[in-house]
Amino acid sequence: MTRHIFVTGGVVSSLGKGLTSASIGMLLERRGLTVRMQKLDPYINVDPGTMSPFQHGEVYVLDDGSETDLDLGHYERFTSSILNRDSNYTTGQIYQSVINKERRGEYLGHTVQVVPHITDEIKQSIRRLASPDVDVVITELGGTIGDIEGLPFLEAIRQIPLDIGKENCLFIHLTLVPYLKAAREAKTKPTQHSVQQLRTIGIQPDILVCRTERPIGREHTDKIALFCNVEKRAVIEEVDKEYSIYEVPMGLVEHKLDELIIEKLGMEAGPLQLDDYRDLIHRIRNPRHEVTIAVVGKYIEHRDAYKSIYESLDHAGFHHSTRVIAKRIEAEDFQRHDAASLLAGVDGLLIPGGFGMRGVEGKIQAIRFARENKMPYFGICLGMQCSVIEFARNVMGMTDANSTEFQADTQNPVICLLEEQSTVEDKGGTMRLGSQPCLLADGSRSLEAYGMQEIHERHRHRYEFNSRYRDQFVAAGMSPVGTSPDGSLVEIVEVPDHPWYVAVQYHPEFKSQPHNAHPLFCGFIGAALEQRQLRTK
Ligand code: GLN
Repeated sequence: MTRHIFVTGGVVSSLGKGLTSASIGMLLERRGLTVRMQKLDPYINVDPGTMSPFQHGEVYVLDDGSETDLDLGHYERFTSSILNRDSNYTTGQIYQSVINKERRGEYLGHTVQVVPHITDEIKQSIRRLASPDVDVVITELGGTIGDIEGLPFLEAIRQIPLDIGKENCLFIHLTLVPYLKAAREAKTKPTQHSVQQLRTIGIQPDILVCRTERPIGREHTDKIALFCNVEKRAVIEEVDKEYSIYEVPMGLVEHKLDELIIEKLGMEAGPLQLDDYRDLIHRIRNPRHEVTIAVVGKYIEHRDAYKSIYESLDHAGFHHSTRVIAKRIEAEDFQRHDAASLLAGVDGLLIPGGFGMRGVEGKIQAIRFARENKMPYFGICLGMQCSVIEFARNVMGMTDANSTEFQADTQNPVICLLEEQSTVEDKGGTMRLGSQPCLLADGSRSLEAYGMQEIHERHRHRYEFNSRYRDQFVAAGMSPVGTSPDGSLVEIVEVPDHPWYVAVQYHPEFKSQPHNAHPLFCGFIGAALEQRQLRTK
């Protein structure tokens, strides 16, 4: 029988529900259980693919091409749970499915209502992940208790214990315990209110995880337990981590959260296997080197917009026992200031993906500097497309080279719309998405990094390298070293006459884990380290 854990959040958003859910998943896996992770998002968009990164942060892409919430990135970084379309549902998807059923006549004769039709649809979406080989499904509910749009989801998870037995379900509620400087005291009232609201809906949390800036102590957690009707030992404080998010699971272990969950769900599990993870934490805490990587993009002030990129840089740093300092630079700054001063003290340049032309000319300036000054360079998706444009303009003399995304009538469309995109009209879910195979050329840096000829990476784009120009690029010194198996699509370009210049059409950042850093990120940070050593010698 698959057990279900529901994770809700109260008081404020951005409490780190995703991280906590992922950490719980990791701990249960490390006790030998099979876990599936899921996120429910109460917004009406069908998926986050059409939302601005300013609104929503990064869009995280899965192997099957689903465009999902960035919390799924945490799930994949912390656990080995298999994620697919069923791992992220939004209000938009739930309603779309119910409305389609209504049109097909599946509710013939009935009035279709939030309860029971929408709530049944939500329950089915949760239960879909249960199967004989899955021990636990962890479902995280987006938003905060009190949001109007979250109500149908809360009602649905309230009903699940009635369907499958109370003993098979566990409600974990995350709250904030703020510290008031003026009063020199941690305040438990917001937590009490948020649990009260949850109980009004009919959900009694079994475990409370209290986020705090500083330790709050037993006195406060006992008080919370009393007022919230939760066992004392089930009120757990989660103090902000000083070093890294990867320490979150260790904090939960200290409070025996894994133990508590397994006991409350009446499961049998093996001992906690954490030795290698402790090693990782030791490496994270004790780096031997340091490098600075410039990340040049247009959502630079929004940390979550390039979430997986920053995480992947960190992972490669863990691999090299190196602290990676990401210097985040707004692309448009390169249109106002010279690249040499903006990139002073930088050991490597990374340009992430993006859409639209704002900042593109700045990215091209930055890439030019890295290419000419032999600074390790890593281009990702739009970053790759900008490298191709830069090379065409400044090395091959095609001064007007561009992508047709930015200039439809350019004489030299070195980046152009993918053939398959020419008839696409809808914006949602219609890009070239998900995992695609790619073959690597002998002698390339990419092959050296991956150590295998065929790779599979995740894509999210509409434009591509224009193969019409392939021979000209090769002759000028930029090589397409990774292509689709039929050779038609260029997935990777490199400049062989450069210490480390690799630009990829796909998103390697979606396949990096803290203990299993992505090979290209490792190669890039390795090259940046060498550059740093040369520079500081
Ligand atoms: N805008 C570019 C395209 O659609 C790049 C997309 C991206 O960086 N994800 O092809």
